[in-house]
Amino acid sequence: MPEIENTRLAVLQRIDEALRQAGREPGGCGLLAVSKTFPVEDVRACHASGQRAFGENYVQELLEKLERTRDLTDIEWHFIGPLQSNKTRPVAESAHWVHSVDRLKIAERLSAQRPAAMPPLNVCVQVNVSGEASKSGCAPAEAKALAHAVARLPGLRLRGLMCIPEPDAAGVDLAGQFGILRALHDSLRVEGLPLDTLSMGMSADLEIAVAAGATMVRVGTALFGRRPPVLVGDDIKDRI
Ligand SMILES: *Cc1c(COP(=O)(O)O)cnc(C)c1O
Repeated sequence: MPEIENTRLAVLQRIDEALRQAGREPGGCGLLAVSKTFPVEDVRACHASGQRAFGENYVQELLEKLERTRDLTDIEWHFIGPLQSNKTRPVAESAHWVHSVDRLKIAERLSAQRPAAMPPLNVCVQVNVSGEASKSGCAPAEAKALAHAVARLPGLRLRGLMCIPEPDAAGVDLAGQFGILRALHDSLRVEGLPLDTLSMGMSADLEIAVAAGATMVRVGTALFGRRPPVLVGDDIKDRI
């Protein structure tokens, strides 16, 4: 069995077990395979093992992989990285989902640039639940107004909310941060928005996210292995 098939089964088992532990329905949380920095051959192998949804967080890399997997007609591409306004067009013209909408200007451009012949682009509003200045995402206090505005744009279909909490460490309350997203999601549904997606949880914390209500976990390392570090300024950093 190819390695990726094993790692994928292991991740699916972690999700199943977390759902069970949380008393949630089996199948209540999907897997987004985050293939950033890994070659298209790995995407193909993962697809061959049954995976359909893939996530990238660099526009150029998304476009390249999308182009090189055109023959896989059922593959679904999710853009999950920070999006600058001058890069919205190719994403609007090719992606199935964008998880990282954090301001109205980006949403308006994606909506206007979505080709009329394509179904509306599925989007999530990204919320900065940790309050770290370095993180993208709108402030929790702004999230509801942004979500209502995004929901009115004709080229988009607002599916839910997304967050990237602080890395797990002593004193970090991950469940509390995921809980902020869950509470916003629930209250937007009460206000009438038909949301069905809570995009939260990664390799290290997916169990905590599933317990908090995640419907889509975004997993890279646990599927594909460790990413090569890159130099950012004077620091070696993981490419998040
Ligand atoms: C890289 C990345 C992930 C996956 O992280 P892992 O820890 O490798 O599972 C999830 N979400 C976003 C937004 C990412 O950039």
